Amino acid sequence: MTFEDLNLNKPLLSALDDLGITTPTAIQEKAFGPIMAGRDVVGIAQTGTGKTFAYLLPSLRLWQFTKSPYPQILIIVPTRELVLQVVGEVRKLSAYLNLEVVGVYGGTNLKVHKAEVEVGLDVIVGTPGRLVDLLKDGILKLKQVKRLILDEVDEMLDLGFRAQLNDILEFLPRKRQHLFFSATMIDEVLETIQQFTDHFEVVEAAPSGAPLENIDQYGYALPNFNSKANLLEHLLQTEAGFRKVLVFVSTKKLADILYERLEPTFGEALGVIHSSKSQNFRFNTVAAFEAGTYRCLIATDLVARGLDVSAVTHVVNFDVSDTAEKHIHRVGRTGRAEEQGVAITFHAPEDAEALAAIEALMGRSIPTLPHPAPRLLSDELIALEQEPEYVAENTVFIRPAPENAAFHEKSLKNQKVNVRVGRRDKMMAKYKKPQTRGQKPRGKKKGRKS
Ligand code: AMP
Repeated sequence: MTFEDLNLNKPLLSALDDLGITTPTAIQEKAFGPIMAGRDVVGIAQTGTGKTFAYLLPSLRLWQFTKSPYPQILIIVPTRELVLQVVGEVRKLSAYLNLEVVGVYGGTNLKVHKAEVEVGLDVIVGTPGRLVDLLKDGILKLKQVKRLILDEVDEMLDLGFRAQLNDILEFLPRKRQHLFFSATMIDEVLETIQQFTDHFEVVEAAPSGAPLENIDQYGYALPNFNSKANLLEHLLQTEAGFRKVLVFVSTKKLADILYERLEPTFGEALGVIHSSKSQNFRFNTVAAFEAGTYRCLIATDLVARGLDVSAVTHVVNFDVSDTAEKHIHRVGRTGRAEEQGVAITFHAPEDAEALAAIEALMGRSIPTLPHPAPRLLSDELIALEQEPEYVAENTVFIRPAPENAAFHEKSLKNQKVNVRVGRRDKMMAKYKKPQTRGQKPRGKKKGRKS
């Protein structure tokens, strides 16, 4: 099947032609008919499957020019990076349409977004918190919205955006079409969807949780940070095929430590990105990675989630992700749009349980390969590994809700109650003894984010 076989119009076909895209992906093919028929659709698709065009193509096909300054299409996404990416995709597809798209997200000047919205627009893409700000201000009106799209619903819930989604729901006209996209269909995702609509059709690119088939996955057993860093350095130095390498680490601190460790060897070819870096720094870093200036980018899960970087040759899980869904998302950064990809997972003995959960969700195992240079194994621990616990970037500890909770992305996000039990604690509870070398007796738990 080609795009010519779908009921697309000339402007969209020309735009696809310019992009050199001729064949719809599985999710694009499956979602097109039901969306065109006006049904509510839930698409189960990972990033890299062409899911953005899967909802944009029929939505733009159904879009009609009006003189109204209010948007007809509302797209809600979890992160700023994803806002920019989706805005970019809308621009590409609407090259031959007289259509205005605006992207809004938290952490930047509200006035700028207000001005952009006030001028008038057809499509708005935004993060939940910033959209609520604009709605409460009365600047953004949703009465003309015909199509509501929620992308990466699972991630939105992970980030604690449920309250804002409820707020937005109140501003929407009754008659509207819903399109939801999520990599996984866990109970919370289903509950959220049901708040918006009772009748929907599910289209699935691949079974929920199944990683893309064109990604080769394997692992190395490595006991600690130094062994992992040594192997990563070795692979980058000896394997020419590692051209565009995305390295995932679980904490900002670890991202910085790894960067400092590798920077003397790789210098300008190495980048690092996490949520404590400024917005500008993050945009520039992503652009440098996309352009190939950086051969290797170290990233935390939170910011790397929405990145659409093409031709990532290798994803390296420097540590095993604490949830199986996160692993699927990490791995989905490579092998995009049917390119061949490789995902390598570094795992330590204490990761056995998490690794088993990942393999169970994927329905396939991650073979452990022999270490290519065993002399690079180290038993020296870094200071961080000797601390009682280090926690993932998006872990939020219990804290009392502020009395006058403002409608602000950060403050609402921080109210999220999420008690995290560290892997070490779990292992201690289970085995009643330390499971890793150098583990210190439990001191007073530090209630900190990394
Ligand atoms: P997504 O899953 O939406 O993040 O898309 C992943 C990448 O695939 C994007 O860079 C798209 O431009 C690209 N893409 C989307 N649809 C197609 C297609 N039918 N053929 C080839 N590439 C595509």
